[in-house]
Amino acid sequence: MTDPAVEKILEKMRSKKDADVGLVKKAYDFAREAHKEQKRFSGEPFFIHPFNISVMLADLRQDAETVAAGLLHDIIEDVNVSKDVILKEFGEQVLFLVEGVSKLGKIRYQGTSIDHKMENLRKLFIAIAADVRVLIIKLVDRLHNIRTLEHVREEKRRRIAIETLEVYARLAERFGMWKIKEELEDRAFPYAYPDKYELLMSLLQNRLVEDEKRIQSVHERLSQELSLRGISQCEISYRRKALYSTYKKLVEKEMDLTKVYDIAALRVIVPTVEDCYKTLGIIHSTWTPLPGRVKDYISTPKQNGYRSIHTDIFTRDNGSAEVQIRTKEMHIEDEYGIASHLAYSENGKPIDGGHLSPKQKWIRQLLLWQKRIAESDSTEFMENLRLDFFKNQIFIFTPKGDVIQLPEEATVIDYAYRVHTDIGNEAVGAWVNQKYVGLNHPLKNGDIVNVDTRKGARPSFSWLKFAKTATAKKHIRSTLAVNRRDRFNYLKQ
Ligand code: MN
Repeated sequence: MTDPAVEKILEKMRSKKDADVGLVKKAYDFAREAHKEQKRFSGEPFFIHPFNISVMLADLRQDAETVAAGLLHDIIEDVNVSKDVILKEFGEQVLFLVEGVSKLGKIRYQGTSIDHKMENLRKLFIAIAADVRVLIIKLVDRLHNIRTLEHVREEKRRRIAIETLEVYARLAERFGMWKIKEELEDRAFPYAYPDKYELLMSLLQNRLVEDEKRIQSVHERLSQELSLRGISQCEISYRRKALYSTYKKLVEKEMDLTKVYDIAALRVIVPTVEDCYKTLGIIHSTWTPLPGRVKDYISTPKQNGYRSIHTDIFTRDNGSAEVQIRTKEMHIEDEYGIASHLAYSENGKPIDGGHLSPKQKWIRQLLLWQKRIAESDSTEFMENLRLDFFKNQIFIFTPKGDVIQLPEEATVIDYAYRVHTDIGNEAVGAWVNQKYVGLNHPLKNGDIVNVDTRKGARPSFSWLKFAKTATAKKHIRSTLAVNRRDRFNYLKQ
């Protein structure tokens, strides 16, 4: 008999089809059994972790395969269940997702600095996250882990916290998942930078109390005005700027809190775009707006696709308050980003019709690419995905798994010089994906390159014909110029 707790997942799940419900129930039983001997750092049964992740995924309205993969995501790594078993029991899609999440978890980097390591990790994430669903599961996994970070020993805790800020939160941001991004940041912040966190909290203390009181009175008046003037279906909520974002803003403003205006805001959610403008009119006829602070991101969305109207008003206590106005659709899109598009679109088209915002268009493109790789191979996907992330860039892997970013059409010699000047100077060829090639060989995204060098070998002029990067050209020229006769030829060019 199935444990009644599975209902907690099923009731939130978008699909109620028998096959989908069956898949999730089966994954639930399987994962619970597989993890039954394990405990978390907190001492709780391990199964709590995959269980909560699947609840969160169902809550994000992800499909049944993703929810099932959430239940099974630690099964290959932690309890050694074989891939064949997962394939046989749950099918290709679920196996793909579970394996993807396991792979992402295994990435470790050698690098010269934290920045370098993080950059590598981030690039690799993007390169191998061949399915956005893998990334969504991984982000939710990190979110759940970071909620219980206090049980992890201190040194490891700090590393996880920094990695969360530098990698996971950035990825959530890139995919427009603001709500997850903010929670990741705000939970990681105190562990990553305890001193800065303390400082911020002490600065904020009085300000928050003041802001909250002021916003509260605007809130009451606004709901009366709106219902009096025909906007009855609205939700008004108080919103405090996330802590880590506030800290970053504060640093930008040279630690002067009085220059940070948007710490607290009121958010008004109304049914239609027309209501948004009506609401703006009502607000401006009730309070005096601060001149030049109205931002209409509905008629002109932000670069990242963000839509809302913002305005700052003078309040009666001689203070000011920010109000943000948006529709429900804009709200969901803003909070859940790509996850909301997986949930609310079918084949990349919005379920409810209507036109697409720039963000939706970008995401639609991404989804179309993903659909295509399901039918082709992953090289094509990587080539398409990077179009938007890293225009005209390719990622090349060192034999150790480090990632080197190069411009499109770069050749082996560009790579060699990027790794090290001496390696460039002494290069004679390379193994690209274990095949021996010449220095003029053009590289493709995802190639693994191992340069073959010979002591005392020197660059030749012909290299300049196929070197694409400025760095490689510069090094080739300067090495050649060491020799006087070569220098003469060089100057004649
Ligand atoms: Mn996990």
